[in-house]
Amino acid sequence: MPRSYAHLQRLFVGPDLSAGIALTLNKEQSLYLAAVLRKSIGDEVILFNGRDGAWLCRLTSDSKKSVALDVVERIAPQPPPSDLWYGFAPLKNERLDYVIQKAVEMGAGTIQPVQTQYTQVHRLKHERLAANAIEAAEQCEVLNVPIIAPETGLDQMLDGWRENHGDRKLIFADEGEAPSSPLSSLLPLAGQRIGLIVGPEGGFSETERTKLRSLPFVVPVSLGPRILRADTAAVAAMAIIQATIGDWR
Ligand code: SAM
Repeated sequence: MPRSYAHLQRLFVGPDLSAGIALTLNKEQSLYLAAVLRKSIGDEVILFNGRDGAWLCRLTSDSKKSVALDVVERIAPQPPPSDLWYGFAPLKNERLDYVIQKAVEMGAGTIQPVQTQYTQVHRLKHERLAANAIEAAEQCEVLNVPIIAPETGLDQMLDGWRENHGDRKLIFADEGEAPSSPLSSLLPLAGQRIGLIVGPEGGFSETERTKLRSLPFVVPVSLGPRILRADTAAVAAMAIIQATIGDWR
């Protein structure tokens, strides 16, 4: 998105976006713009919907119940969705919010909660995960809101991997791997479809590690000599992946 628009508030909306149409925001977004950000008629914001790119819009009504806008011009095209698949064992409360937001910022295209043996959280509120993903996309100029996949179990995910993912490789952040740099394992994956899986605060069980390491599509990697917390490991792993074989290149 051109830097000249970086100061404008970005909002994710549902309807199609095209030049010349008029839109009315929902109550929550109207209250946020009109009351919290105190936007008024003539002010500009950026709207995106994950399909039509980013659009400069101008307020034509600043009612706290229903802000209306004219859609003026497209300022950024819709990029293709990211193909990076990120599987994680759900964490508690704000750590869960954090890991969803960071996955969006790091460019995950699909975010897959995976129940493992030591996962501490079992009843996920899908709408909370989705709200965190949208908030992160709005804040970080991401125009594709990642897919938040329905929760699954590790065995079910691995057993259905080939059928659901074809030739995608699964990078396994294995805290039991001998400490080393993951670069030598990642670089040969350049150009391939990849996923990443990170375990819970209690780590993967030995049974889970043995199963993961036995699968031909799994690529175990170390994230260095220290044990990282699960959310730190997620950000570190996705940063290294994006920098070496992902969209940072
Ligand atoms: N069992 C340990 C514990 O209870 O602290 C480690 C779990 S660690 C907090 C959570 C997850 O982060 C691990 O399952 C693994 O996926 C990843 N992780 C953390 N440090 C790592 C490292 N040095 N190498 C590879 N993966 C790591």
